[in-house]
Amino acid sequence: MPEDIPKDCQVCAEPMDPQHNATCAFCARVFHLTWDTRMEIKDCGRFDLDEQSLAMYFTCNTCLAQMPQRPSTPFTPF
Ligand SMILES: [Zn+2]
Ligand SMILES: [Zn+2]
Repeated sequence: MPEDIPKDCQVCAEPMDPQHNATCAFCARVFHLTWDTRMEIKDCGRFDLDEQSLAMYFTCNTCLAQMPQRPSTPFTPF
């Protein structure tokens, strides 16, 4: 499907994998992300599940680094 995927990751500036990428919910950068942990692909962000809507959303490492480190949900698994 013709998505607007940049040639390079907008977080680490390395070549983008068209199969494994995500768009940041906060800054709309497209970055490396794979949900298949068997794949040797770097992650430049992470995905989270919104507890309210159960929608999945993505956050790039750039935004993660700028966020205050606070538990975003009362549901932290540890
Ligand atoms: Zn990257
Ligand atoms: Zn971001």
